[in-house]
Amino acid sequence: MLKTHTCGELRLEHAGQQVTLAGWVHRWRDQGGLVFLDLRDRWGITQVTIAQESSPDVHALARDVRNEWVIQVSGTVEQRPDGMANPDLPTGEIEVRANNLVVLNRAKTPPFYINKEEKIDEALRMRYRYLDLRRPSMQYNLVLRHNVVRFIRNFLSDHGFVEIETPILFKTTPEGARDYLVPSRLHPGKFFALPQSPQQLKQLLMVAGYERYFQIARCFRDEDQRGDRQPEFTQLDLEMSFVTREDVMGLIEEMMTCIVEQVSDRELVTKPFPRLTHHEALLRYGTDKPDLRYGLEIEDVSDLVAGSSFRVFTETVAAGNPVRAICVPGVGDYSRKQIGELEEIAKAAGAKGLATIAIEAGGEVRSSIAKFFTPEQLQALVSRMKAGPGDLILFAADSAPVVAAVLDALRREMAGRLGLADPNQIAFCWIIDFPLFEWNEDEQRWDPSHHLFTAPMWEDVPLLDTEPGKARGQQYDLACNGYEVAGGSIRIHDRAIQEKIFGLIGLDVEDAKQRFGHMLEAFEFGTPPHGGIAPGIDRLVMLLAGEPNIREVIAFPKTQQAADLMAGAPSEADAHQLEELHIRVVRPENGK
Ligand code: ASP
Repeated sequence: MLKTHTCGELRLEHAGQQVTLAGWVHRWRDQGGLVFLDLRDRWGITQVTIAQESSPDVHALARDVRNEWVIQVSGTVEQRPDGMANPDLPTGEIEVRANNLVVLNRAKTPPFYINKEEKIDEALRMRYRYLDLRRPSMQYNLVLRHNVVRFIRNFLSDHGFVEIETPILFKTTPEGARDYLVPSRLHPGKFFALPQSPQQLKQLLMVAGYERYFQIARCFRDEDQRGDRQPEFTQLDLEMSFVTREDVMGLIEEMMTCIVEQVSDRELVTKPFPRLTHHEALLRYGTDKPDLRYGLEIEDVSDLVAGSSFRVFTETVAAGNPVRAICVPGVGDYSRKQIGELEEIAKAAGAKGLATIAIEAGGEVRSSIAKFFTPEQLQALVSRMKAGPGDLILFAADSAPVVAAVLDALRREMAGRLGLADPNQIAFCWIIDFPLFEWNEDEQRWDPSHHLFTAPMWEDVPLLDTEPGKARGQQYDLACNGYEVAGGSIRIHDRAIQEKIFGLIGLDVEDAKQRFGHMLEAFEFGTPPHGGIAPGIDRLVMLLAGEPNIREVIAFPKTQQAADLMAGAPSEADAHQLEELHIRVVRPENGK
């Protein structure tokens, strides 16, 4: 090794030892007779001093050194002079007095500071990702990610799981997003699809008798990008045989609990993980991925407003739709303008307007709709909402899905404004009993809520023939701090039920055979009951790292426009490559 110790290692007990360190110059200060260098490597930072008096040649060399040069220094570990210790640095009590310095490599001036945590234009960070990744905060994130994955591998291996790799060049998979296609050179006009998940393969591994499989699997989905999505992302994919949903959920709950408590420095605040039915989650939080770090729960007030003379409310209730509300503490003094801002948020989520009731500090009610209520009706509303002086009640009246979306948006907005979500806390919850299907109005057919291999609740199987919309699926999602961090289900292992589902979602027999014939065939060779789940590694690590988007925990992510700015991908292919692939590129008319 070109070093005897790391830059994070030396302490007072090493004083007097001869050491050699190597790394990057994090910072330098030239104080005439003395040059100070902060030397950084993956493990930390150590202060190095070079004195003109004792080592004139080395001192002369050190004066030329600049940030991010790669150097090697040798010298003696010394206790820092009185009053010079740096309590913020683990190595802060010592310094290395160098009597030798070798420049291993010079560096151009980086396009941004590595030694300061400041806001940097993200495009610049992406373009120079290898420099961005040098920053201590990014190193922390990637090491945390490694620790999480290592923990998962050990945990599952100890629980009898086998890690098995599945192909990247495969066939279209059923997660419902757009596929990335790879043209085949040897089969003109044919394409592989990159897997949206190893779903079919892991089920086939159950048919193959492995019983407990996992993989840290790369998945590819050509979707519009958001902060918590990337065209390629990583899942912990797992599948188990001879299990019920309790077994899968129990295992994941234990694993996640250990990850938070043993690998991260966050606080797990939901133990055991609460369980909400899909219906209940929408009712109480307006979403199937609620953030349980704070309350602001939704209350139904349809019964209380039905007797008022406020037409918007009475007509909504008469049409069989709900009126619901949240009570936000401490903002009863919001101005008309501030309430106007909230109304815009409500409208963006689908509301036609926003009715509010403010309770002023003295207890009197301020609201443009108060006049439509008797004092008793108002009192009943206020007490249902548990509203007190200084609170603001926000209402939504519309179809149930719109009410849910509006109150979810307002709930998140207000939690953000009031700082209700403690960034140090991790709050998991299970969402269960999803409807098996969602009605697709455009296509006039049922779409699977999860994917088409998810089993109905066994007692709901007869509903497939009568009222498919009422059938519940054996699906379970894990939500955490407002994100979906895992989704899974018990699968159909019976060809007849599988074919029935294909029929309901509008896949005709020929289509189904074409796409999933290998699955249907496999299911006839002795398929064990099985189920699984797939936690998203990027999202999980993002939450454990307290980062706002998954790009912060992926070494080389794509931009929001699904491009790699460092390598310049995607890029054009040579004419000759295209010819070999039997591909002709037709450019869109507008030249884009
Ligand atoms: N393949 C599913 C997904 O990617 C997860 C599962 O059902 O195991 O969402």
